[in-house]
Amino acid sequence: MLVIHHPDQALHDPEEVFRTGKFIAQPDRAERYSIFLDIVTQDGHEVATAPLNRPEAIVAVHDPAYVEFLKTVYARWKEQPEYGPVAIPNVHPTHRMFRKPTELLGELGWYSNSTSCPITEGTWPAIFASAQVAIHGAERVTSPDKPVYAMCRPPGHHAYPDLMSGVCFLNNAAIAAEELAKRFGTVAVIDFDVHHCNGTQFIFWTRPDVLVTSIHVDPRLSAPYYAGHADEIGEGMGKGLNLNLPLPWATDDRAWLGALDIAIARIRQFAPGALVVSQGFDAAENDPCKTFVITEAGFAEAGRRLRALGYPTLLVQEGGYLSPSLGGYLRSFLAAFDRMLA
Ligand SMILES: [Zn+2]
Repeated sequence: MLVIHHPDQALHDPEEVFRTGKFIAQPDRAERYSIFLDIVTQDGHEVATAPLNRPEAIVAVHDPAYVEFLKTVYARWKEQPEYGPVAIPNVHPTHRMFRKPTELLGELGWYSNSTSCPITEGTWPAIFASAQVAIHGAERVTSPDKPVYAMCRPPGHHAYPDLMSGVCFLNNAAIAAEELAKRFGTVAVIDFDVHHCNGTQFIFWTRPDVLVTSIHVDPRLSAPYYAGHADEIGEGMGKGLNLNLPLPWATDDRAWLGALDIAIARIRQFAPGALVVSQGFDAAENDPCKTFVITEAGFAEAGRRLRALGYPTLLVQEGGYLSPSLGGYLRSFLAAFDRMLA
């Protein structure tokens, strides 16, 4: 399979995030990039570097002012001698606070909904490269027999047009889906990261040309908390084109693949021109998220079933965090998807 990546993706590597009343290890470490790259190289996939030449494809989905903010925020942060080494917001607007400020801390809070998106000097080049990997991946998708894996990292599916959220800054899968919709007319997104794709859902909420389906832990139990319920089905022209399949804690292969089949049936009914798979291995039994208990065999079966759909397909990496098993999950999924081995 053709795999797209860019070395700048490793430049964003904050060590910690503030959660549960303390600093904890940041889940999205740059080491994930090296693990994924090692696996695809060892397994003989064709590996290509994305050219960083499509900034306009990012603002097709994201608010240009937000993108400019992301590009410049760390330089503004460094001008404050008393500030710490990592830009983290400590204030956010709530429902009744609706005026966008220009002061640095105020603006940082305006564009983020939590402390989960620490920003360092390398953040912009890394998230820009990750988005360009998705865009170039979409450009290289031509036919059902030539799927492409966009090895995105940092991930993207929690990012809204003007909001960073849950270690995501730019919505790589949504940017790619927008790109594919231009060429293929209609696109289906299937997201099997353990967390709901709240950003992707929002971006295509009223769109008649993009179906969004998601299999994830019930948002009543886990992040992203504020979206991902089964009764969220889209609005306006997009009504009926959003399918959420929330599942309980400790969901196993059988129940998870059952939900995948429901999403697959909906996708077949929609009959899209192209498919985007937002793949997250944080549903795995050995993932530090410890939410579902999906095995290597479960991911392989998902790979087979998704490939059997037979659409031109872009795989986009979302979550899946550091454990000795991480590389194995990617290897199993890609091998099954690529070869449809029994
Ligand atoms: Zn996740």
